[in-house]
Amino acid sequence: MPTDNNELPSSISFDLFTKIQEHEQILCCNDPDTGLKAIIAIHNTTLGPALGGTRMRPYKSFDEALKDVLRLSKGMTYKCAAADLDFGGGKAVIIGDPNKDKTPEMFRAYGQFIDSLNGRFYTGTDMGTVLDDFVHAHKETNCIAGLPEEYGGGGETSIPTALGILYSIQAMANSLWGHENLSGKKFAIQGLGKVGFKAAEHLLKEGADLYVTDISDEAVSRLTKRAKELDGQVIAVKGEEIYGTDADIFVPCAIGGILNDETIEQLKVKGIAGAANNQLANDDHALVLKNKGILYAPDYIVNSGGVIQVADELYGPDKNRVLNKTKAIYHSILEVLCQAETHDITTVEAAHQICENRLKARNKRNSFFSPNKRPKWQIRQ
Ligand code: NAD
Repeated sequence: MPTDNNELPSSISFDLFTKIQEHEQILCCNDPDTGLKAIIAIHNTTLGPALGGTRMRPYKSFDEALKDVLRLSKGMTYKCAAADLDFGGGKAVIIGDPNKDKTPEMFRAYGQFIDSLNGRFYTGTDMGTVLDDFVHAHKETNCIAGLPEEYGGGGETSIPTALGILYSIQAMANSLWGHENLSGKKFAIQGLGKVGFKAAEHLLKEGADLYVTDISDEAVSRLTKRAKELDGQVIAVKGEEIYGTDADIFVPCAIGGILNDETIEQLKVKGIAGAANNQLANDDHALVLKNKGILYAPDYIVNSGGVIQVADELYGPDKNRVLNKTKAIYHSILEVLCQAETHDITTVEAAHQICENRLKARNKRNSFFSPNKRPKWQIRQ
């Protein structure tokens, strides 16, 4: 908002263009009637319209919100490219407290802003937003993905996400041991929520043994009970002990930033493949893992089952098609591990190179700037 003397506040000065130089478009949404203050960031539409969730947080400043949305939208470009989706990268943030500031009217206003982008941005839930919020936004725009099943959506994303973990682990097993048989192999799972629990079930069915931990005792008891039904072996450990177990593969399915100097020091595993977002405290830790001889499957590929389902939903829901598409994660992880070994680089560098090459290979003229280039699957009314 301009100040009295009509100057821009320092946070919205020309250096904004320096901050957003990697991005195609930023839309600041302001609706005083509903209190909506949001930033939509479209990072890259070379592969298709931008896709990314909407996060709601009580950001302390415009700069903090902008930094978050720029980082997250760029991550989505890589995630979509890695999953070979016909989508680009985008993300949005709503500035506000999700527990106090949310109203249906706010999300309807937000839906109108999304619609003004004419098919260049598709969004759904992220931290601080829930499916119901987007049922309201959907009244104003068709550019909503990840809706509940009763609204034509694909439903629970943790199902394909957990399957993607199993495929990633099988690819890693192939690389480590020359076969995919997980029987008798040991896994350390951190977090037994929607994804971790299902991943644990898959591994138990493959005959694997598990070390598990969760801050919720109830989650651990639920899995222990399920393991008995499946005749599997589960050992529950407390908190930090999960890092030092004698497991073969570590499967982080709780929170980000858990691969740092202190935890990597404790790891005895040969590989890491899990669902948690942003597992590395920073990208340098990929090199620390490589130097320690630990194979790291990049999180944004391992956990891409969810985004595969959300993207697929726009063709009309079909669970079998999603599960088939999720199988591609096996090949993506194998390709990353192979490239990293061949070129003696980290798996994070290998994954970035594969994504960059996919972006370069697609002619930029396909960019979804124009409504005339709307995708053919945009059929939902
Ligand atoms: P969730 O909230 O259902 O489960 C997280 C579990 O981790 C909970 O049981 C919680 O008690 C436990 N937990 C939290 N902190 C912990 C800690 N310090 N140590 C041990 N356990 C802890 O979440 P989810 O949907 O299962 O997602 C798990 C992770 O995967 C998140 O990082 C999420 O961003 C990521 N992810 C999820 C999906 C999906 O489809 N749900 C897709 C992509 C990525």
